[in-house]
Amino acid sequence: MQIADLGKYTDNIVAALKRIVSVPSPTGYTARAAREICAMLSECGYKAEITNRGNVLCRLGGEGEPLILAAHFDTLGGIVRALKPKGRVRMTSVGGLALGSYEAENCTLFTRGGTTIGGTLQMIEASSHVAGAALSEKKRTTDEMEVVLDCGATTPEELSSLGVAAGDFIAFDPRFTEADGGYIKSRFLDDKASCAVLIAYAQALSAGDVPAPSRAIWLLFTSHEEVGTGAASGLPDATEFLSVDMGCVGADLGCTERMVSVCVADGGGPYDYGMVTRMKQICEENKLPYALDVYPHYGSDAGAAVRAGYHMRNGCIGPGVYASHGYERTHREGLLATLRLVAGYAALAPRGIYDGE
Ligand SMILES: [Zn+2]
Repeated sequence: MQIADLGKYTDNIVAALKRIVSVPSPTGYTARAAREICAMLSECGYKAEITNRGNVLCRLGGEGEPLILAAHFDTLGGIVRALKPKGRVRMTSVGGLALGSYEAENCTLFTRGGTTIGGTLQMIEASSHVAGAALSEKKRTTDEMEVVLDCGATTPEELSSLGVAAGDFIAFDPRFTEADGGYIKSRFLDDKASCAVLIAYAQALSAGDVPAPSRAIWLLFTSHEEVGTGAASGLPDATEFLSVDMGCVGADLGCTERMVSVCVADGGGPYDYGMVTRMKQICEENKLPYALDVYPHYGSDAGAAVRAGYHMRNGCIGPGVYASHGYERTHREGLLATLRLVAGYAALAPRGIYDGE
């Protein structure tokens, strides 16, 4: 299976990524981002629908043995738990924020009345000149942190009068940066980088730059992955499910930001042996920079689908992402390698259950 170079699509991936990360979408507050993804698919000629659960589903064409290619567009974030004295906000995390990385990050609070208020997640008693050495010794947990809103409120009552209430969602600034050397830094590369890869795949398919799929292909963009239920419902019939999610970088893992990672097993156990083996073959035949890895603390939508009872083989790949759930970094080469692997796998004739060929 020879895959076209597709290098010209790297800029498309980066542009799509920049566009998607600019739309806030903490899990539970994803409707606007879902509409944005529908619009991006529509711009390259595909009709997408938003499911009951808030996922985006799009049939790209092809016939037989359906393959679902999935990425998630929900992100980590926060919810207002309580209004505090001094007009501060107590936040509950949405998903597994690496809170040390989120200290002093700017954010936006969305009231249910439709207003937005900027703010910053800070330690309680955030000034070194007031807290002294105790500040650096404190644990970075939501019990020790609070959101300081830029609205002048000094009491809970004043916050209420501005429409702020328990249950309001908080989104953090992505700080998207095209850095030197081809690196891309942003929060929420997990998994908006892979959303951008799948949109670039749709663009390349629409333009005839990748082979027509050898089977029915569905794109699925999920809205609840960070809480474990992204692909747990509302899936079309399929024989295979490929999560395109972030690849882990660190410790003794082989993947770097410049590679596509093929996950062999994660916290939910091993992925399908045949899918992994075929993807490895595609990487080798096309000299894609890749690594096979085992992720120690990880789960994906592919695992969520199987746990929910969907009877399909599953796999998980993605661009290497450094400092995941913190301030993340990937590389243009890893994004392109992921696109080429997706294109190669979708073009491969389905071969059913692995028989050790
Ligand atoms: Zn993810």
